[in-house]
Amino acid sequence: MEKWNILPNEQNENCPSDNCSDSVRFDARTMMARLPENLPTVFGLQEKLKSHKIALVGLYLFVFGVLIPITGFVTAQTLKMVSDHNDTLDKKIQQISDLEANLHSQLFQNLSIKMEQKFEDLLLQVSSIISAVHTQRGVLAAVINSVANLNATLLEIQLDIESWKGTCQGNIRKQQEETERLEEHVYNVSAEIMTLKEQQIHLNQEIKGEMKLLANITNDLRLKDWEHSMTLRNITLIQGPPGPKGDRGDRGPQGEVGAPGITGPRATAPIKTVRLVGGSQPNEGRVEIFHNGHWGTVCDDRWEIRNGLVVCKSLGYSGVEKVHKDAYFGGGTGIIWMNEVLCFGKELSLEKCLFKGWGVTNCNHNEDAGVTCKV
Ligand code: CA
Repeated sequence: MEKWNILPNEQNENCPSDNCSDSVRFDARTMMARLPENLPTVFGLQEKLKSHKIALVGLYLFVFGVLIPITGFVTAQTLKMVSDHNDTLDKKIQQISDLEANLHSQLFQNLSIKMEQKFEDLLLQVSSIISAVHTQRGVLAAVINSVANLNATLLEIQLDIESWKGTCQGNIRKQQEETERLEEHVYNVSAEIMTLKEQQIHLNQEIKGEMKLLANITNDLRLKDWEHSMTLRNITLIQGPPGPKGDRGDRGPQGEVGAPGITGPRATAPIKTVRLVGGSQPNEGRVEIFHNGHWGTVCDDRWEIRNGLVVCKSLGYSGVEKVHKDAYFGGGTGIIWMNEVLCFGKELSLEKCLFKGWGVTNCNHNEDAGVTCKV
């Protein structure tokens, strides 16, 4: 209770005049109510409050004396500048609207004049185009007539070409048939020539043998004649000339059967010099021929059905089904023995046919010949 009694006196001492505000007084009273009994601390706080009060008064003075007048002045200047700018802008807008109205009127006039000129030009062009179309229509009619005539002519030419083509194809077919017949005839004639040549060779050999025999007989006859002449000479010297030839005597009895002959050597199977390699069946494959101790292949140049027939016949088959080129059963290895083989179909083996010579070839193994034989 003593604290509350002391407080108003102290407050009067710290704030002697009535200028102090109630808020400040309330704060001081509150603070003083809470002050500890230690007086030096209370005095320090009173000093700090005084300094804060002075600072607040200075701040009020600064705000109401300096800042608010400056702000008012700046605002007034700004409002003035804005109003000036508004006036200037209104003037500019008025000028622009006047200028726009003038421009619209001028442009409209210019545009209307130009449009009229353009329209007149366009009318002139349309009239010239219409006249040109009228003239072109006649030309087009003439062109259409020409095209129709040309089309008719082309159809006739096409018909002629088709008939000519049919005739040509028929002629070509006939020519091919004649060529095939001629080729067969040439083959047959060549085969006959070959046979005749072989017969001629045999005949020549027989004639030579006969000539040798005749020469021997002639020599024997000469000797006999000489002996007879000598005998006749001797007889003539002793006796008279010989009488006429007597009658032929009777045939003598048949002689006894001779002893059996010696048994000859056993016949051996002929060595096969041709084989078929690389086929899926024994009756087909790449043709290989054995010569000079080595198996080799045959080139497919001029490889035809007659060649296959000779191969198949020599291997014991009944005939040939097909011949193959371009290493149909795969390429062989080693030497290519035969090239450009020409058979007539009657040869007993492929070596008997005509060909360039053993190993004479410019082929590769991708040209190896093959055959499929009839079973
Ligand atoms: Ca070839």
